[in-house]
Amino acid sequence: MDHIAKITAQLPEHGLDAMLVTSAPGERYAVGFEGEGWVLVSRDGARYSTDGRYIEAARQQVTGAEIVLTERGQSHLALAREEIRRRGLKRVGFESGRVSADELGRWKDSLPCELVAAQGLLDGLRAAKDEEELARMRQAQRITDEAFREILNFIRPGLTEQEVAARLVYELLRRGGRRVSFDPIVAAGANGSMPHAVPGETVIQPGMFVTMDFGCVYEGYCSDMTRTVAVGQPTDEMERVYHTVLEAQRAGIAAARAGVTGSEVDRAARQAIQQAGYGSFFSHSFGHSLGLEIHESPNASPSEQTVFPAGAVISAEPGIYLPGHFGVRIEDVLVLREGGCEDITQAPKNLIVL
Ligand code: ZN
Ligand code: ZN
Repeated sequence: MDHIAKITAQLPEHGLDAMLVTSAPGERYAVGFEGEGWVLVSRDGARYSTDGRYIEAARQQVTGAEIVLTERGQSHLALAREEIRRRGLKRVGFESGRVSADELGRWKDSLPCELVAAQGLLDGLRAAKDEEELARMRQAQRITDEAFREILNFIRPGLTEQEVAARLVYELLRRGGRRVSFDPIVAAGANGSMPHAVPGETVIQPGMFVTMDFGCVYEGYCSDMTRTVAVGQPTDEMERVYHTVLEAQRAGIAAARAGVTGSEVDRAARQAIQQAGYGSFFSHSFGHSLGLEIHESPNASPSEQTVFPAGAVISAEPGIYLPGHFGVRIEDVLVLREGGCEDITQAPKNLIVL
């Protein structure tokens, strides 16, 4: 997983002498380690600076870069200034989507080079996952699948959404998830019509759908999954909506592959929902890329014109939301290849009635 070499190879194309990586996910991508450090990647080598809290772990885990200790009273910025001057670096790219205006002001005052907005350099590389990254994402997804299987034994009438959410977190962490990739969504009954409902004191009752959207982080990489299950017998309309969402997801998955845009994938799923008459109730995009972060680019949205590279990992998560009644969302994670995709979510998608 030599990501430093990949970053270096991109420098000429972006007209850069070096790239400064300062965000936590950028750092993790570049050197395989997260320790509040900075990575300066130039054409003749990479340097990673971190402080005394992380230096020992950094020496064990950092790959592809020389490691420098930022002494007490010293700053990453001062070290970068020194290095930029020493190597005579003139155009230095930075993660422009990750820096506050205040911080950028300080950098401009301090660094003897032209700073070039280059968020796209890292985003482009991070969009195409390599096999090592995919192995971690598969494991994160496996943990999530197991947590789902377990939660089916736990859900029953009388529990609150919050109790189910707490249990999901526990199941993810005890199976090896380092942390959750986002706060779980558990939405029962009418709350399910809000795609990003916050779990609360609503009590699960027979006849309700329960939508759960959750995931974990394994070795830095995120998983993401949504399932909607029925507690007690669903109505005909609930079943119809469920099967419409599932059909739309299948249509999107069939269209998902390297070389197509996110808007094409979104359209395939959206058409299925429109044809069933629920077009105005699918109020968000089909999916998003994920990896070191839960939301990465490109998206699978109506407006996305970026072509997916081979190795892109995206969510497939159509939904139908009927305000005041219920909602259904089903979400898997796909690895896009030339000519098709691999669905790395194993949890069943038939309508489960508990
Ligand atoms: Zn999700
Ligand atoms: Zn998602």
